[in-house]
Amino acid sequence: MNAIDELTEQFKKFPGIGNRQAKRFVYFLLTQNGNTLSKLSKLVSELKKETSQCSSCFRFFESKNESTSCDICSDPNIDKTKLMIVEKDVDFENIKKMGVYPGKFFILGGTIPILEREPTKKIRAKQLVDIIEKNKNELEEIILALSINPEGENTLQYVKKILELLAEKYDIKITTLGRGLSTGTELEYSDSDTFQNALKNRG
Ligand SMILES: [Zn+2]
Repeated sequence: MNAIDELTEQFKKFPGIGNRQAKRFVYFLLTQNGNTLSKLSKLVSELKKETSQCSSCFRFFESKNESTSCDICSDPNIDKTKLMIVEKDVDFENIKKMGVYPGKFFILGGTIPILEREPTKKIRAKQLVDIIEKNKNELEEIILALSINPEGENTLQYVKKILELLAEKYDIKITTLGRGLSTGTELEYSDSDTFQNALKNRG
């Protein structure tokens, strides 16, 4: 396999990238100068060195010291009574940027396709249960903020099922975002007003 084919194979592993797009990336890189390419490969090789995964919300964050908790989870002013469950890091980033939700987060790390045989392997199901057990004394509400599409809906039902008993045992309310977001909306694209409405109308 030559370099072009090999790099194409690597890009094909990216979410949502097929053979054609992967090839386009490779040919784009071929048009770039040496400096740009060196910078890119340096950033890629150092990405994991300078990034840690938070042990409570599981998001990736820039770690300046040996801390295992991100700046949000270790913030003393955070509202510890609320835990919002989102699918991925970009959803978290988008919501955080809006500045309308003061509570904690948990990043599921994926969604569950319909008819999936091993749903627990697709999301951080066990980690979610652990976090709830750990925070049961402070936690009052779990807000499910998943995409409104068939896969998001399937994930929502599955997570609800996992949490049902725990929520009852510890008297935690489970809510979902209001359906102000139109069908097919991916959370990462929703604007601040739409999200704020959905948050207000949760139930
Ligand atoms: Zn965190």
